Amino acid sequence: MSDVPLTAATPDVLIVGAGPVGLALANDLLRRGIRCRIIDSALQAEQKTKAVGIQARTLELFTKMGVARTAIEHGLTASFTNTYSGGKLLIRIDFGKHLLRTPYPYILLLPQHETEHMLTEHLQSQGGAIEWRRELVQLTQDEEGVEAVLCHPDGQEERVRVGFVVGCDGAHSTVRHVLGLQFAGTTFERSFAVGNVRLTWDLPSEEIFFFLHQGNFIAYFPMADGHHRVVIAYEPSKAPTGDVTLEAKKGWDPGNGRSWVPRVSPNCAPQYV
Ligand SMILES: Cc1cc2nc3c(=O)[nH]c(=O)nc-3n(C[C@H](O)[C@H](O)[C@H](O)COP(=O)(O)OP(=O)(O)OC[C@H]3O[C@@H](n4cnc5c(N)ncnc54)[C@H](O)[C@@H]3O)c2cc1C
Repeated sequence: MSDVPLTAATPDVLIVGAGPVGLALANDLLRRGIRCRIIDSALQAEQKTKAVGIQARTLELFTKMGVARTAIEHGLTASFTNTYSGGKLLIRIDFGKHLLRTPYPYILLLPQHETEHMLTEHLQSQGGAIEWRRELVQLTQDEEGVEAVLCHPDGQEERVRVGFVVGCDGAHSTVRHVLGLQFAGTTFERSFAVGNVRLTWDLPSEEIFFFLHQGNFIAYFPMADGHHRVVIAYEPSKAPTGDVTLEAKKGWDPGNGRSWVPRVSPNCAPQYV
């Protein structure tokens, strides 16, 4: 039994991580009247280019949270994807023909930092707030709840007692490590370059394009601000080092493009404890 008291003001849930998953959860809990606290070890919200595509099911959940309309207003809806290889169109998918049981038969293209911004504003409108620069460093649980240790920027430690802790702290999750959970799955051995570029080409400007080439691919996602998100996947041994020079590609205006080469691991924890 912990010496940290459980009071009426104690939140029911501590959410660790204010990325899209943590923010969505915080919004959903608050709308159900469940008290929660959301912390993040970062200094502030991430502004770098990350994910961009939002699927129909996420928009259905956003509808329940009351943010779907805002997301759609700020994004771009793409109803078609086209996949080419060797100069031939292999697959063209019309979401309007296949996604028949959703009011959102398309992919919404909205940069991740804008989605996070929208979810943060909605959280604030419900009386919630992200606590930045609070790092979860330890967890212990007993029959009555969980005690978490949070590290503040001045080095002080805060002990928090809650009913539940939810680890939304990303691929290198401290929560998962502390609980000794595995990250089952395999690593998709590709290196990616990502950038936002302004394209001049004859292809439709509101459709998604994939071009496959000998195990590598390049994808183009249109965005509401007129840029395209370009994702280039390389075999790690063939990935360029340093920045990818998009200027070298004929017909491209690099716009505000930035690029770097992260690795992707489609893994997941096998259980929740
Ligand atoms: C360049 C790039 C491009 C990407 N493109 C795509 C894409 O096209 N499609 C796609 O599906 N995905 C893409 N991703 C992946 C996508 O960004 C992640 O899947 C998504 O961010 C995961 O969201 P999350 O909320 O689970 O975790 P994160 O966004 O990683 O958020 C976790 C948060 O937890 C915080 N945190 C970590 N440890 C602690 C701790 N101990 N205490 C407190 N806080 C902590 C971190 O500061 C962070 O803010 C891309 C990623 C990158 C980097």
